[in-house]
Amino acid sequence: MRTAVLTDIHANRAAFEAVLADLAPRGIDRIALLGDIVGYGPDPEWCTARAMDLAAGGAVVVQGNHDAAIDAPQRDLNPVAQAVIDWTRGRLSADARAFLAGLPLVAGAEDVTYVHASPADPGGWIYLTSEARAAGAFRATPARLILCGHVHRPRLMSSDRRGFVTGLDVPVGKPVPLLPSRRWLAVVGAVGQPRDGVAMAAYAIHDATAGTLTFRRCGYDVAATVARLREEGLPEPLAVRLQTGM
Ligand code: ZN
Repeated sequence: MRTAVLTDIHANRAAFEAVLADLAPRGIDRIALLGDIVGYGPDPEWCTARAMDLAAGGAVVVQGNHDAAIDAPQRDLNPVAQAVIDWTRGRLSADARAFLAGLPLVAGAEDVTYVHASPADPGGWIYLTSEARAAGAFRATPARLILCGHVHRPRLMSSDRRGFVTGLDVPVGKPVPLLPSRRWLAVVGAVGQPRDGVAMAAYAIHDATAGTLTFRRCGYDVAATVARLREEGLPEPLAVRLQTGM
């Protein structure tokens, strides 16, 4: 069973299309979308429609904080994020809004937990940026593997039997063996708004049969998304963010 894990698409159509094209020839059995389909980006209608198609085809989809903010105010959004949410709300059909509002916060399959932020208080949108926070995530689920987004920077952490958590390097394109003696947590990076200084889409492939996780990066037409942002009059810092990958 090979699952392509995508998160933080953020209404970036060019990046979403590039990742779907990149994963197409890789023998993928299932797609998991870990939320933030909308927000920050210029093409929420297209990206939500594509996510709805994927869900209809069996994809696992969970809700991110930007998805939740369309129909329920979220307290932790910065002013730029909130402005784009208000703009996005007016672009989406009733069906698209109902889809985003109805997504679960957490999903599970086999021995994996899928969540946008952290399984410890999934609607509290905790950023898993430290070993201590990852330890809390491991305590909140019995799953051996936790796959999440929200941070927009790929990260890999592992817990031993006693719950001691270690941060590990994130190799790109090279399968990481998920040793059965340990538990694992990965932030798979962002499809549509990377923040690690690399202006490329990020996603991951979990091969449950081989017991590996592969972090992938894939280039996309950044200029096309930047042009769309400007066409829609969305805040210029969002364009700079895509160009620099920060
Ligand atoms: Zn996000």
